[in-house]
Amino acid sequence: MNNAITLFRIRGIEIRMHVTFPLILIWAAFYFGVFTSQGWEGAAFGVIVTLILFAIVVLHELGHALTARGFDVPVKRIVLLPIGGVSQMGSIPEKPSQELAISIAGPAVNLVLAVLLVLAGRGLLPDKLTNASALMSNVGKLTFESIFLYVFATNIFIGAFNLLPAFPMDGGRVLRALLATRLEYTRATGIAVAIGQIAAWGLGLWGFMSGNLLLILVAIFIYMGAGMEGRTVRLRSVLRDLRTEDAYSRNVSTLSPGQTLQDAADLTLHSSQANFPVCKDGEVVGLLTLQGLVQALKQQPVDTPIDQIMLTEVPLLEPSDKLFQVQQKLSDNGYDALPVGKGGNFLGIITSRDINEIYQLATSSPALFPKRVEAGQSA
Ligand SMILES: [Zn+2]
Repeated sequence: MNNAITLFRIRGIEIRMHVTFPLILIWAAFYFGVFTSQGWEGAAFGVIVTLILFAIVVLHELGHALTARGFDVPVKRIVLLPIGGVSQMGSIPEKPSQELAISIAGPAVNLVLAVLLVLAGRGLLPDKLTNASALMSNVGKLTFESIFLYVFATNIFIGAFNLLPAFPMDGGRVLRALLATRLEYTRATGIAVAIGQIAAWGLGLWGFMSGNLLLILVAIFIYMGAGMEGRTVRLRSVLRDLRTEDAYSRNVSTLSPGQTLQDAADLTLHSSQANFPVCKDGEVVGLLTLQGLVQALKQQPVDTPIDQIMLTEVPLLEPSDKLFQVQQKLSDNGYDALPVGKGGNFLGIITSRDINEIYQLATSSPALFPKRVEAGQSA
């Protein structure tokens, strides 16, 4: 994700803050300053609790990220957005026990924090932790007690909200993992998606009846997130039976390392191709993406040779590679295209568009790929 600033690293995981993040601090200062009528005291309260809550969000995400890394899932970074945290990691394993552990680890962090806070606060605040009106009457006051109560309650809320049994919340994954211990993965996902969408309708209706706009937005977010997870899993189940040779583009134009940004720009404009393998003596030595070309043109003269800006160490796919894995490689690395070759010799490229095309053809007419589908079913 661009437009983010690296704050620090924890065990090699980058913690980044999106540039819009300070907006939430301004909003919190305004909200607690004005709506609790506490003025500057309320504003300071808003900023302090927001910073503490985002520390809690980082711990929640680290729960997911470190558990995922324990199962060899690569974790790139955690990005803090005004709406919460996002862990950017490789594909989560389909093995139910692993998905369950990774998904539950985040809310488990909130539970552990809640227990620690109760233990720490027990002596200080005997009866207020379970008293909602005491909690609300303290909001916005710049005292240790009010900050403690607010952070405690919100930590519980973060944990509980994430356990809603609906994608893209953690609870949706927990539900799918539990279903997948008994059912086939695609079927388990289908049921989890349906339950999530029903829950979204319920939330939306509740928001509508109570005039709560935020609840309606959350419902829409959950409904769309659930649909997207369903589509991703259906896509993967189709791609599992297909191979790179079924979909990659032949007859593509290539560049040589000595050609210039000008040559690449001309080729981009005069062909339908946007990503170019860079070849030397028939072997792929790099890849020039449209994004890479645009970036380079902003900073470098047009006669810069391609080999100074191309991506190197790009994986070369084999025609026999399963499309399921190719799609994962594309999305995990953020590539739009990858070169295909055999024994080091260049054959063509495969793009996300090629994958989308074959998915549409294979779902509308499985007869187009008879051997593949049979092989997949018997495997
Ligand atoms: Zn989570």
